[in-house]
Amino acid sequence: MSISREMKARYGMRGGKSGKKVAAEVEAAWYASKPLGGGYGSLYVTDTTGTKPVAWKCRHYHKEFVLPNGLVMQGSSMTGTVKRRHKAPDFGLYLDAGWLSLAEWRSEFIRWPDYGTPKHAEPAVEAIVEAYQRITEGWLVETGCIGGHGRTGTVLACMVVMAGETDPEAAMRYVWKNYCHEAIESKAQMDFVRWFAGECV
Ligand SMILES: [Zn+2]
Repeated sequence: MSISREMKARYGMRGGKSGKKVAAEVEAAWYASKPLGGGYGSLYVTDTTGTKPVAWKCRHYHKEFVLPNGLVMQGSSMTGTVKRRHKAPDFGLYLDAGWLSLAEWRSEFIRWPDYGTPKHAEPAVEAIVEAYQRITEGWLVETGCIGGHGRTGTVLACMVVMAGETDPEAAMRYVWKNYCHEAIESKAQMDFVRWFAGECV
């Protein structure tokens, strides 16, 4: 089977744009779509006029996250400053479609609007539970979105719940302490963790 040039470009294969370039473009478009200065201040540092982003606050690229029961997984933003060798996962549970053209490993995608909660709760919960199952079977599993904070942090908190910390408030505190204090970016996402802990485990 031959692979068309368009397919190569779309999936970041040789002959098309590199995965890194695609990721940078998706991320730049995402930030460009956000109103500057109002409500998103924690995401990026702006210049003195408050109109131009000059630096992203933090990035977590294939970042190791140790669950309370000792199992290891990863959280990830779409791009990151790669200063050292990061370990690619065996499986990715991604929360933004941008990852579909980037992951060079097995992956699954949950339809999940930025700052919000999954569009369809049931398949999302199934995917999260199955990904946790993979972790217990020894797979290095990663979850990621674009910024690596909101949606990613929400899934990490659900994983913490499944790893034994059944109090959702404690699970979220665990993520803030052990992953990033910027994780989980809206009340809706916090409520999703509470619902997950109460109904799904
Ligand atoms: Zn962070």
